[in-house]
Amino acid sequence: MSAEGDRPTSMRTGLCGRLGLDDVGRSVRLCGWVARRREHGEHLAFLDLRDHTGLVQCVVDGSLEVRSEDVVAVEGVVRARPEGTANPRLATGEVEIGDCRLEVLAAAETPPLSIEDRVEPDEALRMRYRYLDLRRPRMQRNLRLRAAVNSAMRSAIEGHGFCEVETPLLWAPTPEGAREFAVPSRLHHGDFYVLPQSPQLAKQLLMVAGLDRYYQIARCLRDEDPRADRQYEFTQFDLEASFVSQDDVIAIVTDVVSAATEAVTGERPEHFDHMTFEQALERFGTDKPDLRFGMELVDLTAAFEGTALRAFSAPVRRAITLAGGAETSRSRLDALVERARSLGAAGLAWFRVGVEAGEPALDSPLAGHLGAHERTGLLEATGAAPGDLVLAVAGDDRRAVCGVLGALRVELGAKAVGDGPHRFVWVVDFPMFEPGDRGNPVPAHHPFTMPNPDDLPRLLSDPLSVRAQSYDLVLNGWELGSGSVRIHRADVQQQVFDALGISADDARSRFGFLLDAFGYGAPPHGGFAIGLDRMVAIFCGEENIREVIAFPKTQSGADPMTGAPKPLAAAALRELGLAPPKP
Ligand code: ASP
Repeated sequence: MSAEGDRPTSMRTGLCGRLGLDDVGRSVRLCGWVARRREHGEHLAFLDLRDHTGLVQCVVDGSLEVRSEDVVAVEGVVRARPEGTANPRLATGEVEIGDCRLEVLAAAETPPLSIEDRVEPDEALRMRYRYLDLRRPRMQRNLRLRAAVNSAMRSAIEGHGFCEVETPLLWAPTPEGAREFAVPSRLHHGDFYVLPQSPQLAKQLLMVAGLDRYYQIARCLRDEDPRADRQYEFTQFDLEASFVSQDDVIAIVTDVVSAATEAVTGERPEHFDHMTFEQALERFGTDKPDLRFGMELVDLTAAFEGTALRAFSAPVRRAITLAGGAETSRSRLDALVERARSLGAAGLAWFRVGVEAGEPALDSPLAGHLGAHERTGLLEATGAAPGDLVLAVAGDDRRAVCGVLGALRVELGAKAVGDGPHRFVWVVDFPMFEPGDRGNPVPAHHPFTMPNPDDLPRLLSDPLSVRAQSYDLVLNGWELGSGSVRIHRADVQQQVFDALGISADDARSRFGFLLDAFGYGAPPHGGFAIGLDRMVAIFCGEENIREVIAFPKTQSGADPMTGAPKPLAAAALRELGLAPPKP
């Protein structure tokens, strides 16, 4: 809350939550909602008045003519609460407003949900009456924290010379690869605008335009099923800069995110870790490593070299160790085996480490089949001690094996995403392409990402081995954002399209305007986009980004408050050149 917001208006002299012993004796006029009311007989009543800064107790001599959630103005005098009646749980708990006169500014119906944090209202009611849900202190705090983060990031990025530009919402298809929302054109029946998945192409055009450094708090839209960390519309803190390297972009984003963290916690993060995609995969089994706990993957390849055990005959063998996990029950272990299978593993080997005759001993269905060197190899590679549990997976595909253990690691080591400390990590050197359905290369980021120059010769011969100049920022196991150095040379762009199997005609029809622009002098450039909803959710300790978005959609993409999406009248459909749905 800024000092500006604390200033009196023609209706009020101050704010409820700001009052304290320093104000004793002051005549005040406060405005807000009736949070709670208690009547003591006919002659004395208490009312807790709430505004966005908090509650203050008002004492009325007489009965109360107001109901909960009525909007009222209260005039009275601030006084210290009588000896022994201070409320230490309330910021204003040492004072109260005495001799109160009340004016009802707007009467309220009985609210369908409780405006308190103690009782979590029913989810459907929260969505239907979102404006009441947002009245609750938790939601007020979340929205204000979000605003503080935006503000800190704006001033940090402007300090780096970035210029804010608004890009269009009615746009043409963008290359992020998600399903897009389409908007029918009234003047050109059969033609559609597309709501942007991101300002990607617009910001690259701004670089060709010589803007040099652009940023925007941009609304992005993707028609993908909503879930805890995904909504149809979401917000990116989007930026692009000219004449920069990957390291320059990383340094700028690190500073901006540090400023955001400081706005929330009062401290800048001590450091940001850096690792390559390969290192992240090998150590954590994921490109979104949660560094708040260990349990890193270890390589058992050497320990089981030439093994006779079928379970370990596949060439890729990895394990994780759960400290103190030896107590895990047999049924829980069976469930873990099932879980590993559902994640795509052929099986999961488990070893409970105990002690026998003073030596570490393994309890496992496989224990009797292990050779002595395999047993020592396993213990040495994992560093497991008596009391621990080792979980191992073998398979042919390294990414798949590491992925299964990475997922188990997070499930077993689970920490709520908002639980401190904030561990930021930059993951760099992503592969340029991923194998598509038919094993064909598809862009891992988007097709305008610059390949690593060292790997350019392999672009067509071995595309899946090519690294990109792209980078992700990860916080506590959540991807906060991604970016890349872009291709600014027509010949390299053509090679990438060739590798992707995009014909020259196809490229021209989809991205012709960008390719044309690149023909008129494109500076080397790169950028990044931070997922603001996710970052704020983590800062707020919320698991669902819905809790930091004022008016989100439900899991099924609906807005129970407005009723959207709704049918359009037949006349409106005709105007858009659309046929009404068949009854
Ligand atoms: N447009 C990209 C995205 O939405 C981010 C970027 O490369 O700047 O993921």
